[in-house]
Amino acid sequence: MKTTYENSNQDGEQKVEWWEQADFRSRVTTIYTEGKPPESFPIEDDFIICDFCNATISDFPVPVTFGQYALCKECYKRNFIQGEKE
Ligand SMILES: [Zn+2]
Repeated sequence: MKTTYENSNQDGEQKVEWWEQADFRSRVTTIYTEGKPPESFPIEDDFIICDFCNATISDFPVPVTFGQYALCKECYKRNFIQGEKE
């Protein structure tokens, strides 16, 4: 995947990874319950939501930033200064 550095409106320069649809494949979520072994559940490959507003993401590549957060187009626009102004 491609990695770029973008100026965020709040936290200065941030590393942004651009994930293709394939990069979201085979994700697993693990649930820890006291007194039980951890249980892992697969996440549907096409279940990709914005970690900021929970919108479904269907445009690729997806900006993934602040460590692990996928952003939809709108949240990306809101959080990062774009080169061209509207
Ligand atoms: Zn969003």
